[in-house]
Amino acid sequence: MNDRNNVDVLIAGGGVAGVAAAAALSQLGLHVLIVEPLPAQGRRLAGELIHPPGIEGLRELGLLDDELGAVVKGFAIFPGVFRDDPNPMLLPYASSGDTDHCGRAIEHQVLKEHLLDKARRLPGVDSWLGARVTGMEGGADRPFTALVQYEGREQRVSARLILGADGPMSQVRKMVGIGHRTQRYSGMMGVEVEDTHLPHAEYGNIFLNPAGVAYAYGIGGGRARVMLEVLKDADSRESIRSHLSFFPEVFCKDIERVLAAGKPLAAANYCIIPEASVRGNFALIGDARGCCHPLTASGITAAVKDALILRDALRESRLDVRAALQRYSRVCGRLELTRRTLAEELREAFLAQTPEDLLLHQCIFSYWRTSPQGRVRSMALLSTLDSSIFSLAAQYTMVALHAFRLLPRWLRRKALGNWNRGMLKLLLKSLVFQQTAISQWFKEHYAKLGAPG
Ligand SMILES: Cc1cc2nc3c(=O)[nH]c(=O)nc-3n(C[C@H](O)[C@H](O)[C@H](O)COP(=O)(O)OP(=O)(O)OC[C@H]3O[C@@H](n4cnc5c(N)ncnc54)[C@H](O)[C@@H]3O)c2cc1C
Repeated sequence: MNDRNNVDVLIAGGGVAGVAAAAALSQLGLHVLIVEPLPAQGRRLAGELIHPPGIEGLRELGLLDDELGAVVKGFAIFPGVFRDDPNPMLLPYASSGDTDHCGRAIEHQVLKEHLLDKARRLPGVDSWLGARVTGMEGGADRPFTALVQYEGREQRVSARLILGADGPMSQVRKMVGIGHRTQRYSGMMGVEVEDTHLPHAEYGNIFLNPAGVAYAYGIGGGRARVMLEVLKDADSRESIRSHLSFFPEVFCKDIERVLAAGKPLAAANYCIIPEASVRGNFALIGDARGCCHPLTASGITAAVKDALILRDALRESRLDVRAALQRYSRVCGRLELTRRTLAEELREAFLAQTPEDLLLHQCIFSYWRTSPQGRVRSMALLSTLDSSIFSLAAQYTMVALHAFRLLPRWLRRKALGNWNRGMLKLLLKSLVFQQTAISQWFKEHYAKLGAPG
């Protein structure tokens, strides 16, 4: 085995997570190798909107130039048909005037190529492009070694730390024997249109519709991305028609023109929960470590945070891989629990397919309408600035209490029975969240006591 087959860190996958990890670990003076197949299928529908913590993380890692993509100041949420109510609920990241604290939206392929190009120039970072991890040897009491298909032959690469950054359907995760639970929610279709008629430029526009969630945001260069959700078993043409009926008419015409000219991009929306995020000298990162419905647009931000947490854990443990991975697993597990729970709860409430969900939906909007502080706190959770399950539990309770404000409305509609059922569900959920928060605290506390060092 020569030097190029013996590195400090091998990273399977050169997406956002892999590249952020490469940049973060090179800051510790480690020799990092990125293995990336560069699939030839062209443009892909995936993450583009990056929240401020993700942007700040990418800048800190030296991976992002300012002029890329479009500025995002927060979410503009349209609760119904635009014609009936053109005023969205605005959830800005920051109080007015603070322009430093913004997110960005960058076309996915442009973002991916930019990040990979930047990372390859960093000191200590090597990359094998057109290569793929095809097997993992070791495990049990031996460290893992990776088998990599590169330059027409299989090569064995040994590393002190191996990262699986190969996306939600990670094969490397399978190779080391980490199982996972999967739930497929829905599909997503996406087109690129002119941004002239984008309703709220500089915001991530979210349209809530029982047919699914739709997004629209600028991506720079006069272009905007539109994503339309297609629920499981739903007819895609019907879904598109339904989504378009929620949009402003002029914007709808722009989208129809693009749809008539060619096929939209497509993707699937999954929730994936691996049974572990580390094993021996191996760790999962980014979507491979877990992903949820893209409703909160937080996958990229979470991947960047993973990389920073891993770097800090290695630094604190003085490069003791085993101790660092235990800490990494603990902290990331906490963040993922909050992110996934939030996405699931919001999705149920926004689709509002049962009277109970409708009550939650109305409670959320009542909370946002009446509490500027509540809007700020919600946005902190949505953007992962606040990743505490305790905060989520506390906010859920605040939201649930709004059911009492809404009681007269439900009484007028003679829907007291549904209100009672909804209220009971909200209170039970609120208790479950409190309990989850407490058991998470105990889990982490005892894991910390058992951790080496
Ligand atoms: C429709 C949709 C919309 C989304 N919108 C947003 C959004 O607005 N904002 C947001 O933050 N997130 C969003 N997300 C989530 C976001 O796309 C992901 O969280 C993010 O791309 C994860 O990056 P990753 O590097 O973990 O995985 P990926 O981007 O999947 O990268 C994995 C890499 O691994 C490589 N690879 C695969 N197999 C191997 C192998 N055997 N060996 C080596 N390399 C391999 C692949 O070529 C790929 O480059 C969205 C997702 C979807 C599906």
